[in-house]
Order: sequence, then structure tokens, then C-alpha cells
Amino acid sequence: MLLEKINKCELCKDLLEIKCDDLFINKFHEKYPALGKSYGVGNKNAKILIVGLSPSYHRCLTAKELHPFNFKTQIQENVGSGKIMYDCMRKCNINFDDVYITNLFKCSFLEDKNNYTSDHLNNCIKFLKEEIETINPKIIILLGKSVSKYFRQSEILKEKNIRTFDLFHPAYIQRNYSMLNKYLEQWKNIERVIKECY
Ligand SMILES: [Zn+2]
Repeated sequence: MLLEKINKCELCKDLLEIKCDDLFINKFHEKYPALGKSYGVGNKNAKILIVGLSPSYHRCLTAKELHPFNFKTQIQENVGSGKIMYDCMRKCNINFDDVYITNLFKCSFLEDKNNYTSDHLNNCIKFLKEEIETINPKIIILLGKSVSKYFRQSEILKEKNIRTFDLFHPAYIQRNYSMLNKYLEQWKNIERVIKECY
């Protein structure tokens, strides 16, 4: 199973070895060895695959699910940037059950999230590749500039006929709320494409 493979993978060694004095984090890590990793969630037959960047280490410490955005929890509890995204999706008649959502990197940085190297990319990208092959989506949505950059760098879609869309990351919308209408427009465009093409 993919989940087990991700858990067992130790290739991003530098990320998994915690260089941290925080006793709380270290204790937590003893209890949950897969801490700092994340897994996809959603409909495995979805037409739409949503790709975020990477798990948030600190959220992993407190969350029960290690899914991107803790999406389900955020919807239920009406909080977080996942909720902003879900509201836009729903306005475009796209439901949670219509999508599969995952992260490009399965391993997380303790601090700075933008320091991924091409080694990390090579280590982690095979899991996304497997997810794409299993789900076989028509559309892949890339959340934010970093995701677009790493995704294209990986050339993962070589010879595959899948359309990609670059969207704002909902956390950016959370910080720049005046961009909400533009973000909704991006989702409406996806709704149009789904209606017209699939
Ligand atoms: Zn990794």
C-alpha cells in the first residue's frame, strides 16, 4: 500500500532526523515515527487531483489526520485555508467527494518550507506519480507557485494527457482576502472546463 511505502521511506533522511531540542516534539516523534509525513485523501476515482506543497510539521504535532490542510477537519470545524478552498469549490458545484487531494512532498521541514532540494524532489515525487497512476485524473490543480515550480521541474506528466491548472494557494487568500474573487474565478474556470470537456 502506498501509505505504508510512504511511512517506510527514509530517503529524505535529513528531514526525518529531527535536529530539535524541543522535548515535546521528540517525545511525540517517538510515539508517531511517521510524524512529518502526509498522505492523500479523497475519491480514488476523482477527475480532479489537487496538489499542495508539503505537510506542516507543527500541525502534524496536534492533528489527528496527516492529510493536506487536515481538509476534512477544517470543513467540519469551519476553520483554516482548506475551508476557504472548499467554499469556492462548492460554489462551483465541486464537492469533497469529487476530488482527491494530496501533497507533492510527503516529508516536511521542521521550519522553512521552501528549502526543498532536487534530491527531496526525486525522493518524494515517485509517490505522487503512483497517486496519479492510480487515480488517473483528467485535471490536476497545482496550489501555489512553489508547487507549480517543483511539479514542472519533475516532468511527471511527460507523455500524459492531463490538463494542469495553476491556482492560488488558499493560505495566500487567507492572508490576502481581497483576492478571494479572483480565486473564485479560477475555480469557476475549472467548473467550465469540466462541464465542457469531461
Ligand atoms: Zn521524502
